[in-house]
Amino acid sequence: MTFFRADKNFEKFEDVTASLLKKEGVKLLLCDLDNTLRLHSEKEPADELAKWIKGLHRAGVKIVVISNNGRKNMMQKFCEPLNVPCKWWAMKPMSRKLTEAMSELKIKPSETVMLGDKLSTDVLAARFAGVRAWKVDHRRDIV
Ligand SMILES: [Mg+2]
Repeated sequence: MTFFRADKNFEKFEDVTASLLKKEGVKLLLCDLDNTLRLHSEKEPADELAKWIKGLHRAGVKIVVISNNGRKNMMQKFCEPLNVPCKWWAMKPMSRKLTEAMSELKIKPSETVMLGDKLSTDVLAARFAGVRAWKVDHRRDIV
């Protein structure tokens, strides 16, 4: 484990499969939102995202979105149709919201992964919370 390096790297969230999570003993997947699960400009969940989340839920994996984005209404509107709780204004790399999600769901750090696109926020927050850090490539809006 290296502090500033993710434990696993993926191209995109879809590459984190239910079978991989099962193999790795992951019961809770904490997910960053912007540039991880969506492009910053996406106002509604993409079909691929909805499908991926449904698949993980079916496999018994819990998902909580943890974002530094402070726009509560936007986040709730985005996450509600996905049946995924969200925590906004998380101030990652602070680990408070990650720890809060684990204690609310009674899931141990050893059974939890934080998935995000940024080393300085997501990976570091995972380290402070004592959970595994998995990273996806930063998704960019094509302009
Ligand atoms: Mg991000």
